[in-house]
Amino acid sequence: MTAMTAPLSVPVSLALVGAGHTHLAVIANASRLRAAGVDPFLIAPAGFDYSGLASGVLSGAMPAESTRIDIAGLARKHGVPHTVAQVTGVDRQARTLTLGDGSRAAYDAVSFNIGSSVEDPDAWASLEGVWPVKPLSSLFSLRQALEKDLAVGTRSPAVVIAGDGPTGFEIAAALTGLHERRERSVNLTLTGPTANAHWAPGSAGRSLTRNLDRRGVKRIAARVVGHGGRRITLSDGQSIACDHLVLATGLRASRLTDQLDLPLDDLGRIKVAPILCSVGDDRVFAAGDCATIKGSPRPFAGVFGVRAAEVLIDNLCALGTGSKPRPYRPQSRWLSIMDLGDGTGLAMRGDLWWQGRLALALKRRLDIGFVERHRA
Ligand SMILES: Cc1cc2nc3c(=O)[nH]c(=O)nc-3n(C[C@H](O)[C@H](O)[C@H](O)COP(=O)(O)OP(=O)(O)OC[C@H]3O[C@@H](n4cnc5c(N)ncnc54)[C@H](O)[C@@H]3O)c2cc1C
Repeated sequence: MTAMTAPLSVPVSLALVGAGHTHLAVIANASRLRAAGVDPFLIAPAGFDYSGLASGVLSGAMPAESTRIDIAGLARKHGVPHTVAQVTGVDRQARTLTLGDGSRAAYDAVSFNIGSSVEDPDAWASLEGVWPVKPLSSLFSLRQALEKDLAVGTRSPAVVIAGDGPTGFEIAAALTGLHERRERSVNLTLTGPTANAHWAPGSAGRSLTRNLDRRGVKRIAARVVGHGGRRITLSDGQSIACDHLVLATGLRASRLTDQLDLPLDDLGRIKVAPILCSVGDDRVFAAGDCATIKGSPRPFAGVFGVRAAEVLIDNLCALGTGSKPRPYRPQSRWLSIMDLGDGTGLAMRGDLWWQGRLALALKRRLDIGFVERHRA
């Protein structure tokens, strides 16, 4: 990696690709960038759904609009030219991006905040009745489909969740909450190698599984290995009915990273130095789920993208001013709060945890506050 000492000739044309948690703050600080000689432009979809409130939507406690941030409006407000498009290709030698419509955009430096997608080796996500947990719009469509099923039939649809990580558990809890709100019994099976919340600290996992067991969720310690004809096959040989299959099978960085010809980790994340530029190209920055920081790998969680924003803004300004970039050191413990869909939350931080209404109230306060801060 070359040292970032000499400033690029100003104005530096900075492409912001994707408007995830980190770039929301970069867009809002566009005037600081321009004052430093850096001209940002954005290529991203027109809207962004904030995942912290996704389970609230899925459980029927909140409308889908509550997660929505109007990216086009935010960019307009802060004077950032915005092309509503996906970037489909990157030529790092020529420093150009290819957009979905085939057009190209040149840049001096580029920053990626393009998030993640679901691991789906068997390409099930495109099948009818299969719902990957990302993009979040897929989950909101699942809620609509379930509400339709519940409105017309007396039989509750059979829902299977593939994946026993925090996302699989949170979605199981949220969908159970949706059924409870509609006063219907739930026919939901959570599957995964252990079907236990083995990743939760101390006895939090037992508390969580007790909560789901009491509310009628079935748990099977086996992986989904086959899908078709409204049934799924499990790795233990069982075949069970499945009207809706939720893929919570783990995340990987958005596929665009594969095209960069830069060092990636085994989940496709761009390996970045603590100053948030790629270890292979100091004109390529990345933050959030599409990046992993050398020496500080972290799980996929929005909190790291949010916390990286201040450092990223400073280091993007440094492209124009030539000042010394500073490192981002992600915290080793962080607060995560699961919405259990029954009016309670499960808060976890390191080895500590607590469950109850206050935990959910805190989550709502933080998440609604985040969305409101970024509304144009
Ligand atoms: C159901 C669910 C609930 C979750 N709840 C929480 C939670 O409560 N707290 C928490 O910390 N984490 C939570 N997470 C994890 C969290 O969603 C991710 O870690 C977070 O979204 C990552 O943020 P990001 O900014 O990297 O990317 P994202 O939030 O995914 O944003 C990336 C943006 O880039 C855009 N984009 C993608 N590709 C391109 C492209 N090629 N060109 C242009 N734009 C592109 C996308 O459309 C998107 O708008 C949850 C995840 C799920 C699935």
